[in-house]
Order: sequence, then structure tokens, then C-alpha cells
Amino acid sequence: MHANTQIPKVIGFERIDAVHRDSNYYNAARFFWETVVNRRTVAIGGNSVREHFNPAYDFSSMMTSEQGPETCNTYNMLKLTEGLYLADPKISYIDYYERALYNHILITQRAGKGGFVYFTPMRAGQYRVYSQPETGMWCCVGSGMENHSKYGKMIYVHDEQNLSLTCLFLHS
Ligand SMILES: [Zn+2]
Repeated sequence: MHANTQIPKVIGFERIDAVHRDSNYYNAARFFWETVVNRRTVAIGGNSVREHFNPAYDFSSMMTSEQGPETCNTYNMLKLTEGLYLADPKISYIDYYERALYNHILITQRAGKGGFVYFTPMRAGQYRVYSQPETGMWCCVGSGMENHSKYGKMIYVHDEQNLSLTCLFLHS
């Protein structure tokens, strides 16, 4: 399945639960998150090859393709993770958030010259293709501009009574 078509739908499930308190939608979003993170995600926290989920038990296409995890997928998985964590603050959510933010998102911007990557190849020795000003405005450029404002976003959370550190940065 085309991965980034599915992830925003599931963010919608999480939002429906957040607004209407419908645990069926929360459970669907949690199940999707667990399936993607535990069965479809590589070490950097990204998923997909050529924009599609690879088979859960066969990552070989990801290791040979020049089109590894799409940046937008991780952008949306972070958004889903944030919503799930705020509803149910499990450490597994924030562990994934930290892993994906610092091991995938951080490397999607070209240091010094700017530009963003669409795909992050897992193939050994593969170069990255960065967007060029005025000639490359892919989806991952739009989400990419927003991505790099997130490094301090989930450092702590609070409710009416308590302030809690999420441990981002602390165990990196
Ligand atoms: Zn994209």
C-alpha cells in the first residue's frame, strides 16, 4: 500500500478519539502505530520504499532501492505519535519520536546549502537528492520546512497540575 496515503487517515482516527473520546478510533490508531513502528520501520525511524510499505518480513527492496523511507511518512508518524502520546503517555511513543526525529528528520536537510530530501536511501553508498531552490517543491519540501522546528517540541509535556520531561535529549 502507498504508505503516506494511509498515515494521515490514521492521524484522523486519533483526532476523532481526541475530540469525541471514541476508544475504537484510538485503538485503531494505536494498532496501526504499533504495526508500522514494530514491523515496517528501519533503524532511522523511517518506513517505505518507493513510497510504499515493504512486506513486513522482507526489507530487501529497501536495501537495494535508491528510494528508501519518504520524509513525509516520518513527518506524519511524528504527528500521529504526538497525539497518541498525549492521550496515553507511554515511553514507547516518545522513544520512537526521539529515534525518528534525530535519526531520520535531522538528516533530511542539507547542511549549509539548504534543500530537503524526498527519500532517504538505505542502499549502501547511495547519494541523496536534495531539493533545489525554485525547481524542487515536492511534498517533502513542504513538510520538510516544518520538520526542523520540532527539535524542542516534545521536550516536556504538562497538564493542569504537572510538568513532565519526556527525556528527549537526556538519553541521546
Ligand atoms: Zn513527501
